[in-house]
Amino acid sequence: MNLHPDAGKKPRKVRNSVIIRDKKVKGLEHVNHKGRLIPEKRLGEDFRCASFKCFTVLSEQERHAVFTEFYKIQSQNLQDSHLCGLIKVDPIKQRSRESNRRNLVQYSNSSEDKYARPNDYDNAAAYRYKVRTKQIDNNKYYYKEVPVCKKAFLSLHGIITPARLRRLQSSLCENLKSPIDRRGQHKNNRMLYLKKWKI
Ligand SMILES: [Zn+2]
Repeated sequence: MNLHPDAGKKPRKVRNSVIIRDKKVKGLEHVNHKGRLIPEKRLGEDFRCASFKCFTVLSEQERHAVFTEFYKIQSQNLQDSHLCGLIKVDPIKQRSRESNRRNLVQYSNSSEDKYARPNDYDNAAAYRYKVRTKQIDNNKYYYKEVPVCKKAFLSLHGIITPARLRRLQSSLCENLKSPIDRRGQHKNNRMLYLKKWKI
C-alpha cells in the first residue's frame, strides 16, 4: 500500500492573503483585503523640486533603477529595512511655539498635497532622506547615494503611502533602528544550547 503523506489530500490552495502580500511587495495591481483595487506602483512624476533639485541630480536611468531595485526586494520587512537605512533622524529636543505655528500655516496653504501634511512623527524629529542606486564603473559595482527631499523619497520608491512612512518614522524614533532589526535579537536554539552546556 502506498501511504504517501499527501495521499488523498486535496491540493493545497494558495491563501488569498499570501497572494495579496506577494503582489503588494512587488508593487503589482491587486485587490486588497477591503476589496479595494490598488493600482500598480509607478515611479512618481517630476515635480520640479526646487530645494534639492532631486529630479535633475539623478538621471532618468538612475531614477528607474531606484524604483525597480526597490520592488525587487522580496519582502515587506526587507523593503522597510532598506527604506529605514535611507532615513536619518535628528531628534528635535524642543520646538518653539512660533515655529509650530509657522509650520501649520505653511502646511495649510499646501493642503492639496497630502504628503506635505505634518504628522506626529514629522514633528517629533527632523528627517533626512536619500536614495541609493547601483552603479557600474570599470566592471565594478558601487552604490551612489543622493540626498533627496521627502516628496522625492516617496515618489522615487513608487509613491510609498504616508501611512507606511509614518510607520517607518515611528520605529526610527522609538528605536533608532529599522523594524526588522529587532527581529533577529531573540536567542536561537543554538545559542541556548551553547549557554546551557557552557560551550
Ligand atoms: Zn526634491
